[in-house]
Amino acid sequence: MDIHSATYVISSPDHTKCPAPDRPEYAFIGRSNVGKSSLINMLSRNERLAKISRTPGKTQLINHFNIDNSWYMVDLPGYGFAKVSQAQRKKWEKMIEDYLRRRDNLVHVFVLIDSRHSPQKLDLEFVDRLGEWQIPFSLVFTKADKENQRTVSANVKAFLTKMREKWQFLPQHFVTSAEKKMGRDQILDLIGSMNEETREEEDV
Ligand code: GDP
Repeated sequence: MDIHSATYVISSPDHTKCPAPDRPEYAFIGRSNVGKSSLINMLSRNERLAKISRTPGKTQLINHFNIDNSWYMVDLPGYGFAKVSQAQRKKWEKMIEDYLRRRDNLVHVFVLIDSRHSPQKLDLEFVDRLGEWQIPFSLVFTKADKENQRTVSANVKAFLTKMREKWQFLPQHFVTSAEKKMGRDQILDLIGSMNEETREEEDV
């Protein structure tokens, strides 16, 4: 699958204000600075797409992008901001939980993990939460060009090994680099096949 057009639609303060749930939707989330904007731009082949939603004050919003008039790519506000107050964090948690659990057309979540680091508590806690809520997701290890391949592989393996402590099945994972345009086809192919499945279910 490829992307031919990608346009910014709207930034919403909560799931009730999001666009009508009339097509499959895929959300991207991760710690701030993980490389989420760069990945979204890389996937859409539009270097400015995620920037539009990055104006100050818009960081706590749910950003929708219309992809080829057939599905939505969603940029969710990141977690792990050092300078965020307790109240703001609570607000973020509620907004994210409500969105993830109530958005009817959400098909799959891509959780971004910085491939330069060993497993981080915040990321592990977040995937555990998705498990509790039974939300389908995969892992996207970002910035793979920044370290040598051996380090990246070791970090990926360490994360999956940590997950094994609690999880019986491991999620699918991708190793990506926005810089080197790596991992694009794999992620888009997964989205393409999930779009097909969604369409088939609708036709039944
Ligand atoms: P966000 O806060 O998660 O949206 O992160 P950004 O996409 O803004 O990326 C944070 C920083 O990491 C920026 O300086 C990017 O240029 C850099 N970055 C993101 N992805 C990559 C990548 O694949 N390779 C390299 N070398 N740098 C990256």
